[in-house]
Amino acid sequence: MLGRIHSLESFGTVDGPGIRFVVFMQGCPMRCLFCHNPDTWDVNADVKYELTAEELFKEVGKYKSFIASGGVTVTGGEPLVQADFVTEFFKICRSAGIHTALDTSGVIFNDKAKVLLEHTDLVLLDVKTSDEALHKTLTGCMIDNNRKFLDYLQEKGKKVWIRHVVVPALTDDENRLRRLAEYVSQYDVVERVELLPYHTMGRYKYENLGIPYPLADTPALSSERLKMAAGIFREILKCKVVV
Ligand code: SF4
Repeated sequence: MLGRIHSLESFGTVDGPGIRFVVFMQGCPMRCLFCHNPDTWDVNADVKYELTAEELFKEVGKYKSFIASGGVTVTGGEPLVQADFVTEFFKICRSAGIHTALDTSGVIFNDKAKVLLEHTDLVLLDVKTSDEALHKTLTGCMIDNNRKFLDYLQEKGKKVWIRHVVVPALTDDENRLRRLAEYVSQYDVVERVELLPYHTMGRYKYENLGIPYPLADTPALSSERLKMAAGIFREILKCKVVV
């Protein structure tokens, strides 16, 4: 089995605890309006790496001493598109004592996802919104699997960091943020919430791919709006909230 991998990052510091080897998988069924990695969408697009899980682990091995206090994170794209491959990779990592983190939108929730979670130490779950209609508008996909995914993590007692992108005029409404924080507060497996400010740095990728940029008129989120969002989450949640 070969994994179709968009890119690798050897010293990641923002995708889970400690210094991490980060694997960006190719393929994603969602079409988030604010996505800054549209080049990962098509699972059949040309990729830099097609590797077996063992070959990928050899790459990790080159950085083993650096990631000793961190681990590996598999992100995307959407890693659940290639769940079998990621499961094989995580099995090898864990047998070598390396911490595994899965960064996912939870858009695919099936038996393969459940098997993968058995070999995952930490889930970084993207929650785009708690509002059903807005979720469809923002991502093109229904919210159901994202909810089922978080329910399942709660049932299994699996540690979760929630990630939420705050987008001007789409997700930075105070009532909406409050509803999202209240939704998250029901889950005691959530150790941390990361609020990510919308930025426009992915815009050039759309131009390169010849895809219209859906948020062409949306500015980056201001530090004041981010601070406001963090204040709401900190008021409602007991866990750590970081920006
Ligand atoms: S889930 Fe992530 S990779 Fe997929 S479209 Fe949304 S932001 Fe982009």
